[in-house]
Amino acid sequence: MLELKHIKKYYYVGDSVTKALDDVSVAFRSQEFVAILGPSGSGKTTMLNGIGGLDIYDSGDLAIEGKSTKDFSAADWDAYRNNSVGFIFQSYNIIGHLSILDNVEMGMTLSGVSNAEKKEKALKALDRVGLTDHINKKPNQLSGGQLQRVAIARAIANEPEILLCDEPTGALDTETSEEIMKLIKELSAERLVIMVTHNPDLAHEYADRIIEFADGKIQHDSDPYDDHADAEQFKLKKTKMTFWTALKLSFNNIRTKKGRTALTAFASSIGIIGIAIVLALSNGFQTQINKTQSNTLAQFPITISQTAQDSSTTGPQNNKKTTKSNKVVAKISDADKSVHQNKITKSYLKYVKNINGNLSKNITYTYATGMNLLRQTDGKTKTVSFSNADSSNSNSPSAMQSAMSASTGVGGSVYPSANDGGTNFLKKHYKVIAGSYPKSANDVILLVDRDNSTNINALKNLNFDVKDNQKLNYDKIVGTKIKVVNNNNYYQSLPTGNYVPNKATNSLYNNKDNTTIKIAGILRVKSKSSENVLSSGIAYSDKLTQNIIKANKNSDIVKAQKKADSNVMTGQTVNKDTKTNLVSYLGGSTTPASILIYPNTFKNKDKVLHYLDKYNKGKSKSDKVIYTDMAGTVSDLTGGLMDAITYVLVAFAGISLVTSMIMIAIITYTSVLERTKEIGILKALGARKKDITRVFDAETFILGVGSGVLGVIIAWLLTFPINIVLKSITDLSNVAHLNPVHGIVLIIISTVLTMLGGHIPARMAAKKDAATALRSE
Ligand code: ADP
Ligand code: MG
Repeated sequence: MLELKHIKKYYYVGDSVTKALDDVSVAFRSQEFVAILGPSGSGKTTMLNGIGGLDIYDSGDLAIEGKSTKDFSAADWDAYRNNSVGFIFQSYNIIGHLSILDNVEMGMTLSGVSNAEKKEKALKALDRVGLTDHINKKPNQLSGGQLQRVAIARAIANEPEILLCDEPTGALDTETSEEIMKLIKELSAERLVIMVTHNPDLAHEYADRIIEFADGKIQHDSDPYDDHADAEQFKLKKTKMTFWTALKLSFNNIRTKKGRTALTAFASSIGIIGIAIVLALSNGFQTQINKTQSNTLAQFPITISQTAQDSSTTGPQNNKKTTKSNKVVAKISDADKSVHQNKITKSYLKYVKNINGNLSKNITYTYATGMNLLRQTDGKTKTVSFSNADSSNSNSPSAMQSAMSASTGVGGSVYPSANDGGTNFLKKHYKVIAGSYPKSANDVILLVDRDNSTNINALKNLNFDVKDNQKLNYDKIVGTKIKVVNNNNYYQSLPTGNYVPNKATNSLYNNKDNTTIKIAGILRVKSKSSENVLSSGIAYSDKLTQNIIKANKNSDIVKAQKKADSNVMTGQTVNKDTKTNLVSYLGGSTTPASILIYPNTFKNKDKVLHYLDKYNKGKSKSDKVIYTDMAGTVSDLTGGLMDAITYVLVAFAGISLVTSMIMIAIITYTSVLERTKEIGILKALGARKKDITRVFDAETFILGVGSGVLGVIIAWLLTFPINIVLKSITDLSNVAHLNPVHGIVLIIISTVLTMLGGHIPARMAAKKDAATALRSE
């Protein structure tokens, strides 16, 4: 059934040629026990491997059932090894991490035999070799003779026609050798057995036919066979391994090496831990940086007021020369010289409005507009104001007083309404402790410091009866209603042409033209760094002032004041500037008293400044609009520092990534090298190249996922002590924060990298010559 025709196999190492098989021609019967005897190095193993399809001959032909194997593809050879041949080796070649049963089943696992059939056949084979009592043991719990029985069971489980034994008793004592020989002899009754041995006694005692081998040539054949069979139908069932089998195989291997695998996974997870922590830190630092930047900028917005200091005109301070003149020189001081009147024109307002929304979402416009406010307490109506100024020791009308003195106009803090009504700006810096965030321009809020304190004047000016340090319930304040009265109802004209405020009566309070506003909530500063964003007391959106201006722009008193050269309320003669202020105060001017721009980051602030500078280009000195950048000095310093920190962190992350990549590749490569023998065994059992690659891919997959998950978990656990340490050093809490998305991405990266690192050596291993792989120790 098997015939070797002029088979040659030469090995070339350097300049020397080893003729392992030198023109060997021999035929075997379908059933016989052939022993091949010969000295070491004579080519016996090479011939056996050639017959079994583990090693492909250089020239000649191997005919199976009369069919030539010259045109066999790799898949045909795999199928031939799997279906027709059983191998038994001197060193047993049992896969250590699989159970006895799994080892015996492996050949059938590779060819996709169903579980039930596989088990039945394996148990039958194990029974045949007398190991029924030991099937639940691990290979390392068996003796040499027992291991060889497992190997025999594995070889015959799939009922092959050919059994190839390479010195099966070479490692066994005499008594065990006899037992194994008896077993092989028994098996030879049903098939062709070709056994290589160096023990002539055993060969003569058990074999039917003895072939003596030397120098790659047959020297003597005790019972030659030369009946050349005709080519019969010779069918081979192709083998294939499912990924599931590969995964199971790898999982088993990993399970038996728990400690080692855990160490390996830990080693390759170190890189992942590094990256995860760097990410967590830079995440937190970035958040912190952004927060600091936006808080700083919220306290020090870019400010454009009607008057500004033009630093470019202030000359050097000490350039005064001593003079001998006896005259006094009248001179305008440098400070006065540098005062610049900004012309906030409509076109400038439009220019500011066009600032890229991504650079600065919030712009506040403050107006020097007074508000005619009334509040009713205990059925009595009184004039109130949002001012923080102490009005108790002033004779003049309080609102007027503050309007003329305070730069913010009429008191109270103004926040940018932006597109969202200012909610985002407030949410960033304040949290609600009672009531809610404002929902419309008619909702005002009371701001308190972190200790819940607020300016007493803010409450007094709203007609709350409070003393220093007195505590008020939230519900006393939240919901308080205040009426805004328009000028025409608030002021009455006298026959003299002057205007005076009407008495604050209940009927004025109930006038249907009034707008009702209410204190919607009490908001508290979120953190220390948000303090001073707005001063404590009442705050309202710039939209409210804009609405009031809209209502009063064309009121009688405004019209009168625009015409008159005196204060229409007092009759006092006024100059042009005071007149302008009066018109503004009465709501007759739509020009803001100041513009506050709040960029989100220092970088964006620089862009905004650059944009504002562009406006002044080519304009005459008096037409220029000069801004004040109070955050300037702060940002120059911290901005650079923050950037440096970020770059360092990113660099660290990069280094960790590269390190872990190399580490993973090395670890998998070593693992592949270490399992070369197993690759050989699997090949002898008929595994395809693809199957081998798959086994290792599956293993690296498990390892990759494992180390990724481990790394992310360890990194996450480490963020807790890191945060405690950082808190004690920097007073920043929760800096290290691992983003779950980053965690998942890192696990994927770890898996992909591990598989990449392992795939290449796995491919190399799969390509390895099976015979060479088996020869390796
Ligand atoms: P035996 O089994 O009879 O002891 P082998 O078949 O193992 O002998 O080897 C026959 C000869 O071929 C030996 O000289 C051995 O060194 C050589 N040989 C076997 N495999 C290789 C190989 N992969 N590369 C080079 N020489 C080899
Ligand atoms: Mg040998």
